[in-house]
Parts: sequence; C-alpha cells; structure tokens
Amino acid sequence: MGSHSKLPEELLTLLKEGERLRSQYYRGRFAPSPSGPLHLGNLRTALVSWLRARLRGGEWLLRIDDLDTPRNRSGALESIQKDLSWLGLNWDGPIILQSKRRKLYESVLLALKQQGKLYPCRCSRRLLGNRNGLNDGDGSNIYPGTCRELGLPWDATDGRLPSLRLRVGKKFSNTSGDVLVRRADGFIAYHLASVSDELFLGINEVVRGEDLAKALTSQLAVIDALKQKPIAFLHTPLFLGTDGIKLSKRQGGEAAMSTHAEFMNAENLIGFLAATLDLVPQGSELSALELLSELRNNQGSIDTVLTA
Ligand code: GLU
Repeated sequence: MGSHSKLPEELLTLLKEGERLRSQYYRGRFAPSPSGPLHLGNLRTALVSWLRARLRGGEWLLRIDDLDTPRNRSGALESIQKDLSWLGLNWDGPIILQSKRRKLYESVLLALKQQGKLYPCRCSRRLLGNRNGLNDGDGSNIYPGTCRELGLPWDATDGRLPSLRLRVGKKFSNTSGDVLVRRADGFIAYHLASVSDELFLGINEVVRGEDLAKALTSQLAVIDALKQKPIAFLHTPLFLGTDGIKLSKRQGGEAAMSTHAEFMNAENLIGFLAATLDLVPQGSELSALELLSELRNNQGSIDTVLTA
C-alpha cells in the first residue's frame, strides 16, 4: 500500500463527525489516569479546565485514561468521581473509559500502518533513557530514528512484540521525533489513544497540567499524520508539594488523601485551590459555581494561569 492511500471510510466518517462537533461550541475534557486518588494538583487542573469550559458556555467531558492496566488502582475510578462531584465539578454525558475504546485505537493504528506511516522498533526504553514514552519537549529526548529504515518484522520475535512508531513529517522531526504509538508490551500508547479521543469526541481545547506540555509536539504530530486541523492545548502550572516536589498519584496517594481530609468542606478547598492561582484572595471559601460567577465578571483572569 502506498503512503498516499486514504484513510478507510469508517475512520474518515468518525473524524468528520469529530470535526463537526469541534466547530459547534467549546468542548473540553479532564482525563485522569485511575492510578490512585486525585491529588491537589489534579484537582486544581480539573477546576481550571472546568472553569474554562463553563466560562465558554461549553461542555466538559470526563475521560478515564485506563489503558495502562497494571497502573490502574481499584477504587480510583470511584474516588475520582466522588471528588469531582463533591467539588461541584460536574461533567457532561457519560464517563468515557479508554479501556472500552481499544478497537477504535486499533483501527487508527491499522490505518496508519496501511498508509506506510508506522514501523516496528526494537529500542528499549532503558536504551533510550526515556521511561514514559514522552519526549522532553526541549529536543533532549527525541527518538533518534534508530529502527526507522531497518524494516524489522512486525510480529513477535522470541515472544516479544516490537513497539510501533509513527514516521513523523519533516516539520516534527526536530521537535517530537518518531512517536511511539504502540508499546512493546502491546498496549496502545498514550499519544495515540489521547489524540484519537480528542479528535473523535470533538474536543477543541485541552487544558491539562504542565507536566504534560512535553507531550504536545508528539500529539500534534499524530494529529498531523491523521491530516486533521490542530486543536488547542493549554497547560496549568504544576502544583508543587510543600517540599517543592511534583505531586504524584502513585507515590502520594495516601498523603494526598489525608491532606485532602483537612479541608472541611468543598468551599474551603475550592477557595484554597483558587487562591494558589491568585483567582481569589487567600482564605476565600466559595463553591465552584460561585467562583464561576465571580470569574464571569473577570474573564481574563483565568487566561493568565494558562500557558501554551
Ligand atoms: N491521563 C493523563 C494523566 O493523568 C493525562 C492526559 C491528558 O490530560 O492529556 O497524566
């Protein structure tokens, strides 16, 4: 199959529908991984993302990034829902579970493969010194293309699958490098699943934590490979723990829970989170809806906490 072959009709239809949804009105999303309870940083990102969607009169979807099953923790899904509801961050429509959408991602992979845009790669993460499959966004962790022209077999060898990479166009070769789209353990990679969902679900703006800013160029490269118009990605500052270290659900789950328990009520926590972004004075207590109506009179203030 030539590299110019078109995407299959079903995919084109799904992408068109996504494009139609994107052109309708603002549609954002919050997409936690159920690897533990949400920590304060996640909650603050959720709050900003929710505010942004509601200020635009748009929709806000809740997607659960649960493809990396070994990292899923039992009870995390329930705890995420409970915390968001408790805070008054209501989402639209049913919760979207990535684990229920594997077929869709497989069909995107297959289509890209048939277009000659993928190749098998045998480089280990250890070899690449890149443990999470994200590049660092500063050019320091770009896949050097080692397996690009080797024509390695697609099948498992000695019981081990290759990973699959997307051959990116020239404009991404120095920023994202060839993007990992299926991991060597056979799991669909985050970039592929996440981008497919933004496109199919009609998301036109992503607001997420700054730790994911390094995923940006890889995700734009996937959007480009699917010949779709870029969508907006904005990032909220990282919420650092008192020790100045990035919070992590996996390491800090229990600590986050107990910190969380210190907040007597949702108004207290919303006030605290909003004050850390200078949206309200310290010590404020207000509901998510009250914060929203305050910001309606001062729309610009939310923009100042977001970066590209
Ligand atoms: N599931 C990812 C995480 O929790 C976030 C994905 C995203 O917002 O793009 O780190």
